[in-house]
Amino acid sequence: MKLLNNLFFYPEQGELDCNTYVFTGQPGVIIDPGNPEFLAVRVDDMHQDGIEPGEIGFIVNTHLHIDHSAANQAFKDISGAKIALHPVQQENYRARVIDSARMFGLTPQEFKADYILDNRLNAGDIELELILAPGHATECVCFYHRKLKVLVCGDVLFEMNTGRVDFPEGNADDLKKSIEALSLLDIEYLLPGHMGIVAGAAKVAANFDFIKKQVLPWL
Ligand SMILES: [Zn+2]
Ligand SMILES: [Zn+2]
Repeated sequence: MKLLNNLFFYPEQGELDCNTYVFTGQPGVIIDPGNPEFLAVRVDDMHQDGIEPGEIGFIVNTHLHIDHSAANQAFKDISGAKIALHPVQQENYRARVIDSARMFGLTPQEFKADYILDNRLNAGDIELELILAPGHATECVCFYHRKLKVLVCGDVLFEMNTGRVDFPEGNADDLKKSIEALSLLDIEYLLPGHMGIVAGAAKVAANFDFIKKQVLPWL
């Protein structure tokens, strides 16, 4: 589903899946390919929008929970795209991708980073700032497109809610700080890892307000 000229949204399809976002360009960027079980559907939806996997150059993740990262390798296999991780994601790779899959009784969907990113991803004319936003998990990163005022925020916050903090890698104080910092950004599109998106600066501001007043005090 097209959100902007060069930005597409593919909603989560089911259990252990997440929302996927694609910036098109030379090359394109896919954020959170989700669950490999739903990859065929996702690729088909992209095809309907005129996007082919081979046009994607980079696979990135908001964090490494398996509902976001399990299809990394499968998408790489069909696209030839490179996987790029933030250094904190690389540090937490084993705990999040391997150990937590085993904890759920699942086979780990392993992958290797081709690049380690600093705080910026430049892919052709797409420029994304990486903002470390721990709390839901240590390695949570938000992708900010400053010109388009787009924030892909993963599971840091959602429409009317925040990500959970009750996993061992969760930390409520960190999450509060992360959300406070993000709320200072100029955002027209808030694009979370689950459920719906929040569009329009006033709605985004109201959503931050609601979360600060009604959700964060109870974490
Ligand atoms: Zn998560
Ligand atoms: Zn998630």
